[in-house]
Amino acid sequence: MGAAAGRMDGAGGDRNGFGGGSRRMLRRLRDAMARAATPRERLDEIVRIVAADMAAEVCSIYVRRSDRTLELCATEGLAPEAVGRTRLRVGEGLVGDIAATARPLALSDAQSHPKFAYRPETGEEIYQSLMGAPVLRSDRLLGVIAVQNRTRRQYSDEDIETLETFAMALAEPLGAGGLVEDSGGEAARRARPAPIDGLSLVPGLAIGRAFPHRRPVAPSRVVAEDPDAERERLEAAVRALNRRLDRLVDGAALPRAGEHAEVLDAYRMFARDRGWLDRMREAVGRGLTAEAAARRALDDARARIGRVSDPYLRERLADFEALADELTGLLAAGDGGNAAGDAAAARPEPPEDAVLVARALGPADLLAYDRERLRAVVLEEGSAAAHVSIVARALGIPTVGRASGVLSEVEPGDPMVVDGDNGRVFPRPGEEALAQFRRSLEARRAERALFAADRDKPCAMRDGARISLRLNAGLLADLPQLAATGAEGIGLYRTEIPFMVRPEIPDVEAQTDLYRRIVEGAGGRPVVFRALDAGGDKRLDALPVGAEDNPAMGWRSLRILLDRPALLRRQVRALIRASAGRELRLMFPMVSDVAEFDRARRAVEREMERAREAGSGLPSALRLGAMVEIPALLWQMDALLRRADFVSVGSNDLLQFVFAADRGSELVARRYDPLSAPFLRALRTIAAACARAGAPVSVCGEMAGRPLEALALAGLGYRSLSMAAASIGPVKRALMAADGGETAAFLEGLLASGEERPREALAAFARDRGIPA
Ligand code: PEP
Ligand code: MG
Repeated sequence: MGAAAGRMDGAGGDRNGFGGGSRRMLRRLRDAMARAATPRERLDEIVRIVAADMAAEVCSIYVRRSDRTLELCATEGLAPEAVGRTRLRVGEGLVGDIAATARPLALSDAQSHPKFAYRPETGEEIYQSLMGAPVLRSDRLLGVIAVQNRTRRQYSDEDIETLETFAMALAEPLGAGGLVEDSGGEAARRARPAPIDGLSLVPGLAIGRAFPHRRPVAPSRVVAEDPDAERERLEAAVRALNRRLDRLVDGAALPRAGEHAEVLDAYRMFARDRGWLDRMREAVGRGLTAEAAARRALDDARARIGRVSDPYLRERLADFEALADELTGLLAAGDGGNAAGDAAAARPEPPEDAVLVARALGPADLLAYDRERLRAVVLEEGSAAAHVSIVARALGIPTVGRASGVLSEVEPGDPMVVDGDNGRVFPRPGEEALAQFRRSLEARRAERALFAADRDKPCAMRDGARISLRLNAGLLADLPQLAATGAEGIGLYRTEIPFMVRPEIPDVEAQTDLYRRIVEGAGGRPVVFRALDAGGDKRLDALPVGAEDNPAMGWRSLRILLDRPALLRRQVRALIRASAGRELRLMFPMVSDVAEFDRARRAVEREMERAREAGSGLPSALRLGAMVEIPALLWQMDALLRRADFVSVGSNDLLQFVFAADRGSELVARRYDPLSAPFLRALRTIAAACARAGAPVSVCGEMAGRPLEALALAGLGYRSLSMAAASIGPVKRALMAADGGETAAFLEGLLASGEERPREALAAFARDRGIPA
């Protein structure tokens, strides 16, 4: 009931959300701001108006401070003493979550949400529902506006839109500094911020100057004066958009083949998507301007997928946002068509050493910049499978994702260091640190030259123990790394990565073609394919799995393949065809018990039989392996090794399950150490069982790519390690400097002695022997 009252008087009940109600409400807000004498009074007026308008008992404004906290600056309904006292970190509590994700949130039962952070001084325990929206200016977070209700209120889409409209109206004055006395002031904001930990998306170290990717501002004109003319503007801008994308994609200095090409083609298709175009045409038909229609279509998409916290779906939204931005930019550039192709010219030119900073980017956004000027990319969102990451990888631009708060931290031109190898960003590092990074950049260059000198040498420890170093890959764009690093083959080819960039599961022909290109690209080096590892942290558009409380432990990976035999059959058939005349190595992820492995093996053998009967070319040999990443397999090793031709330890998942620590959770992902006694013992059990059975064993999780961890693995008896390309050089150098027998004896002693800090002890061992680990 409250919601309806708020709507009537507020944003207007129409789906346009920018109707007369909205305008009235915004006018009231403006008048109130003009009346108030001090910034504080202005904020107090705003929260009063919004609370009344939205029929909420509480309205509060939190302003982002320089130390990445949010401070309660005004409230209607919460205890007035809390103003200026209540602070939340970005990411903390529901308000912090809205700030971190820059997305609105509406919860009828806010208090039972796991992120709810109770602040007793506010007296908020009596309010059950909460809805909040970020206040953003050019993607930069300025604060959060939130309303709360005593009863369990189901906020509607229109309620959310209304609050977002208020948030939009707040952005201008808040950004201009007209609303709050900033306790820290500019000086505090300019202070040297702490490094930001994110996710490594494309490796490499870069030093440059911040260049925030500007998104067009929200349209100021929403209601069209002449709908026919508006329709024409929209159509002209859409044509211009298509021309522009064609020019960007076709003109890009990128190899023709590879997933990036598919990503860009899919993006081009997306721009021609009828659903999207129809939604915009409809909105123009209802009287909106073309800009407002583009915004409306985007809001619809956000409403459909944007409010879920699933990072994968949010990545899909990034494509949509980028397209809407592009279209808005074209419309702003002129008559929406003729001058529009040159919206790019209207963009400010990045400096020659630009670090592009954005919340999210579409894959074509990168191509719109001069590659020569881009040193690195830093995103607040992003994942390895995001379209923009795939294109950045193909372009070789060091990229860090999930750098939360970076947009608010940097001003254009600020010096920045981006460490794509370790997923860290250093905004305004200071002269001394900058000089240090420059030296480090030089050192890495020199180091790379050193690695290149070792590239063609086999990796042998000082006593001759041979360790085979292989590459983890998932894209065709990774193949050139084989020659560049001297890797002996591909130890893990993640077949789900190419699936992730497609809207549907590729058919047998398409898969055959892809796998054949990989096998051929490997030029005779062995390739270990991993059967589709979907689900958990690897979401596929083409294979939606329902929501589960614990997706990492849910219906995923081999479990899906066994329940969807046609999916497995198609993949195996394609792998058999692609490997005709060559050895086929295939391993199954997330094996929980040997019976699952048996079923998978039977499915492969049936496909081999079929191929034989059909007289089509067969692989010269077939080797089937199991990934050890579920602890239950540790107690089935002997039985497993009677069935499997080889095993590979997926230490990322094994670590997550051994310690029950979600690898995707910021709070716990780095909490447990693979170089701890329990994990080393688990690894020793696996290695020992394989040695008894004479079965080849490797490790293909991330630990294999870290020199000290690789040394420990060699000491435990592992003779094959598979890792990211950037790790091969450093790991090889460390292993070649160590003695295999001595390292094995040291590890044995370490585990027998009950040493509580194996990492420190191993690091000291390496240091004493001059091993660069
Ligand atoms: C692992 O779990 O260690 C592994 C190599 O597989 P992924 O990281 O793809 O799950
Ligand atoms: Mg895994």
